Amino acid sequence: MELLENIPLAPLTTIRIGGAAKYFVDAHSIEEVQQAVASSRSRELPLFVLGGGSNLLVSDRGWPGLVLRIAIPGIEQSSRHDEHGRIIFDVGAGESWDRFVSRAVMAHCAGVECLSGIPGSVGGTPVQNVGAYGQEVSETIESVQVLDLKDGQLRELCREACGFGYRSSIFNGSERGRFIVLRVRYALTPEGKPCSRYADLQRHFAGRETQPNLAETREAVRHIRALKGMLIVPGDADCFSAGSFFKNPVLTLEQHQDLERRAASRGLAVPSYPALQTHMKVSAAWLVERSGFAKGHGDGRVGISSKHALAIVNRGEATAVEVLALKDQIQHRVEAIWGVHLEMEPVMVGF
Ligand code: NAP
Repeated sequence: MELLENIPLAPLTTIRIGGAAKYFVDAHSIEEVQQAVASSRSRELPLFVLGGGSNLLVSDRGWPGLVLRIAIPGIEQSSRHDEHGRIIFDVGAGESWDRFVSRAVMAHCAGVECLSGIPGSVGGTPVQNVGAYGQEVSETIESVQVLDLKDGQLRELCREACGFGYRSSIFNGSERGRFIVLRVRYALTPEGKPCSRYADLQRHFAGRETQPNLAETREAVRHIRALKGMLIVPGDADCFSAGSFFKNPVLTLEQHQDLERRAASRGLAVPSYPALQTHMKVSAAWLVERSGFAKGHGDGRVGISSKHALAIVNRGEATAVEVLALKDQIQHRVEAIWGVHLEMEPVMVGF
């Protein structure tokens, strides 16, 4: 295990913002993760666990302790099937998520094809129960191998133990900071049909007579994401973001009625979908755009993506302070006009 000093964190994040880590370790194995944790404890250094850096806002001051980047590799396709005939893929937390999706699709296994093109690493996916276009990883995760920082034990948590909800789990909820994700096991359906429930995908395939296959669905999702600036494409200035900056709000029926009244008084209808049986999920992008923050908003170093109102972009040399100033402006205006509080999605580090 190599302990590095004063490593800039901005290049390790997709938004390219943030100061340096005082100490830094790239851990390629479970043993190296254990050594790094022991080292942070013996030196009394605060520990931050870094994955793909795609959902982070690091402070301009950086991180005063040890940043441990999980770089555990490996995609193993098991010959074992679970009781539903699904194939198990055992994947290192440091693997690129999209590389795994590509492998799964090439192996004609369904379950993650709509999650194509999501930046970041495999280890981050159970944390926020990553989802898009009608799929979320909780539907395919069989178990998660973790290091429990409470007692230093390695554990295998089954899906039920992960407490998955909408973009949530015990890892970002009740047990935040307790576990380091080391490997994830996904159970995928061989020769399964792709999911194409969402309007964006249906529009993409409109007019076709045959059902799209898994590979075509993967390409369609990547194409749709690229149009929204949500695919990392070298040279595209809209890519320097932390993805969606706000969560799609899940409202009680009462809150939703209030929002509908406000929209109706402006002659508008809010895009909404039933959620959690008694709630309604609304489009955060719609709220942002209808609050005066159009695509391409802002003429400084920080602004809104020209392709998607939910992405705050670094147009070059931006600071975390500037990003937070725009975030505050958006939150205040959305709340004033629509009565809805938008929750920030990226994790804040070192503030
Ligand atoms: P979008 O597709 O415009 O969707 C906006 C909102 O409408 C989301 O809450 C979405 O629910 C909901 N929605 C749209 N079609 C729906 C349908 N047919 N049934 C039920 N709900 C529907 O959003 P976007 O910002 O362009 O993002 C594209 C996809 O990537 C979305 O699925 C979004 O949730 C996902 N995404 C996920 C993460 C993450 O996992 N952290 C981050 C960014 C974006 P859902 O959220 O349930 O899809």
